[in-house]
Amino acid sequence: MSKPKVFVTRPLFPAARAILEQNFEVDYWTQFERISRTELLRRVADKDALVCLLTEKADEELLAAASKLRIVSTVSVGYDNIDVPACTRRKVVATNTPGVLDETTADFAWTLLMAIARRLVEGDAWLRSGTWPGWDLDQLLGGDVWEKTLGIIGFGRIGREVARRALGFRMRVLYYSRSRVPAAIEKELRAEYVPLESLFRESDFVTLHVPLSPETHHLMSTPQFEKMKRTAYLINTARGPVVDEAALVDALERKLIAGAALDVYEHEPKVHPGLIPRKDVILAPHIASASIETRTKMAVMAATNAAALFEGKRPPNALNPEALSL
Ligand code: NAP
Repeated sequence: MSKPKVFVTRPLFPAARAILEQNFEVDYWTQFERISRTELLRRVADKDALVCLLTEKADEELLAAASKLRIVSTVSVGYDNIDVPACTRRKVVATNTPGVLDETTADFAWTLLMAIARRLVEGDAWLRSGTWPGWDLDQLLGGDVWEKTLGIIGFGRIGREVARRALGFRMRVLYYSRSRVPAAIEKELRAEYVPLESLFRESDFVTLHVPLSPETHHLMSTPQFEKMKRTAYLINTARGPVVDEAALVDALERKLIAGAALDVYEHEPKVHPGLIPRKDVILAPHIASASIETRTKMAVMAATNAAALFEGKRPPNALNPEALSL
């Protein structure tokens, strides 16, 4: 019997390829440049499965171009690149990779937090410029992190891991999320549920961990920056459009906040030109989950999700399991 066909928009990693090649006739996009939309639509047309990255949109147009498609498996926990209701209408299962990147992403939110508070990137640039005159008492004074107040917006898997790391810094942790977590978790993480308004007013660091949705689009804009402390920093490892980038530039310009450390951007790979020259901003190229171990686990999970469907099983991370019973 012939194997189902899968299109994979990157060569992934050997461990994930082994799963795919055992279960599918595999077509990989192997070129360095990203696949164009036209080529993606062409290559997916005769496929039963698609394994893609967050940079490829699985929307009505793609689903219409791939009439045999039964599963879209994204190698990411965020799935704002997939139109899940459209998948469901067409009986296509959508899957993501939750859980395996929580710790690595939380570590990186902390990397950004520490680096912006202690002006690490500015210091590195100064030293490399050859103009550093040696130690002095008032050089590159940052803000302390320990015993400060950390405000976490979105208290899911990653947000909670960020909170866990704050315990070692004896921080006060405030959180706001769509739903309040059980008291036992609040106690374990010493986290206090507060209205968003209070979180902005009281936090020294505001870190974002919500998914991108119509509700969270531009969750951070001018009114929110105006409520923040003038000494506070914004950390974003969630999704770019959660922050109104033009409003952030304006807030930094007006010194409404002290700085920002970003991993994600509103119009990737573009970055608002007003952010580029600023010393009070750290710009990382969307690498929060980028450890070898974690990216391998994500790819394996995505491959496993796709393979499961054709073994007659429910994909472990189905976002719309109802698509299976339609
Ligand atoms: P998660 O476990 O689903 O947590 C998200 C949290 O946000 C949940 O507690 C959710 O509340 C809350 N939330 C959803 N909509 C909200 C709203 N409108 N207002 C307030 N809170 C809201 O997801 P996760 O695994 O922690 O991942 C979070 C996001 O991080 C992902 O969606 C992804 O976009 C991003 N991410 C980025 C990177 C990177 O490379 N930079 C890496 C990993 C993840 P409920 O509990 O009520 O659903």
